Amino acid sequence: MLETARYNITYAAERLNLSPDQLKLLLEPQAEHEFTIKLDKAIELKAYRIQHNNKRGPYKGGIRFHEQVNRDEVKALATLMTMKTAALGLPLGGAKGGVAVNPKSLNLTQLEKISRAYVDYLAPYIGPDKDIPAPDVNTNAQIIDWMVDEYSKLTQDTSRASFTGKSLSHGGSLGREAATGRGGVICLGELLKLRGHNRPLTYAIEGFGNVGSFFALVSQQDQPSWKLVAASDSSSAIYQPEGLNAQVLSDFKAKGGSFKDFKANHVSSEQLKALKVDVLVLAALENSLTSKNMKQVEARYVVEMANGPVDKTANNYLYKRGIAVLPDIIANAGGVVVSYLEWRQNLLNQQWSEAKVNQKLSSYMTEATNNVVNIAHQYRTSLTEAAFILALKNLS
Ligand code: NAD
Repeated sequence: MLETARYNITYAAERLNLSPDQLKLLLEPQAEHEFTIKLDKAIELKAYRIQHNNKRGPYKGGIRFHEQVNRDEVKALATLMTMKTAALGLPLGGAKGGVAVNPKSLNLTQLEKISRAYVDYLAPYIGPDKDIPAPDVNTNAQIIDWMVDEYSKLTQDTSRASFTGKSLSHGGSLGREAATGRGGVICLGELLKLRGHNRPLTYAIEGFGNVGSFFALVSQQDQPSWKLVAASDSSSAIYQPEGLNAQVLSDFKAKGGSFKDFKANHVSSEQLKALKVDVLVLAALENSLTSKNMKQVEARYVVEMANGPVDKTANNYLYKRGIAVLPDIIANAGGVVVSYLEWRQNLLNQQWSEAKVNQKLSSYMTEATNNVVNIAHQYRTSLTEAAFILALKNLS
């Protein structure tokens, strides 16, 4: 992922004739915090916060709790956050954090201890006007609420604008839970409109988790002519050419169900990516389409809802075949847009209605999609490369 992010930044810098010094500033993080958290006498966990760039405003980015968290991964995700906030035109920079731990092996007391210890170390380097962390993989509103509490104990800050992704009763924003999926639907809808595609379409989703399920639920509501025909989770993929009901799937998953137990036709996860659908939505993991499987793609549009699901070889190949890849730094930016709106509400001491939040989200996503499509025409390049050119323009 780091390699792909660096490749895209270097390409965009060349197209914009940036100097080697300007490029260096965009590739290297401004600050890297690496420390250990003592869980008990025997266990020490590696923890990170990498602050990539704050040229446009305070650093912004999630905190991930996962066994495989490492410096390079956090660096790549921090770099992508800078690109995302810049491409969306937000007055924020990019950062990312993480703790190398499997949260499923912890009880609630241990989880709280790690969350508070993370803030104890980082308190001097974060805050509403310095760096505003948020949840990411395996972190949630409860963890963020503990972090905000710890931060306010240490600093006496009462704005609650030090973190986003809080629970509603602790200063969170309406609309945050669905924001990433909703943003993807708005972005795809706008791209189709700009390309004059106004016929009904079929789509498949890899990864029916938070992002994938909200993509399906929002499109069922707002884009009734889009038909969901396939969906997968890590256990199995289901395929129903006559259409799947997003609400039924979402309710099934909310009760802890796995798709391997869902009554439908089952296909392999590789077969799902090769289905003859109009749109393939990738909402699971990075490197889902690579040189190994890119030739099997039959969709005309690929939407990167996960971070980095299409690697650079596959991206170049799909572009040459005329398949449009809607890039992650735009398609999945809905979450950071509503995080920004949460921060704004906290600073103003306000609570906006869900309709107001969704309307603001829509205007950011629509404008960014239009900008990317215009740049792709102007520079005769792919949407991914155009999104990086847009980000770098906004950073220079
Ligand atoms: P999640 O854990 O809720 O969902 C991930 C889903 O993918 C799960 O249903 C899981 O079973 C499925 N999955 C895992 N491996 C799979 C495989 N090999 N094949 C098919 N399905 C598989 O996570 P999420 O919050 O929905 O995030 C998904 C992706 O979107 C991640 O890459 C994340 O970094 C990115 N993202 C999330 C947000 C957000 O707001 N949650 C914002 C931006 C980007």
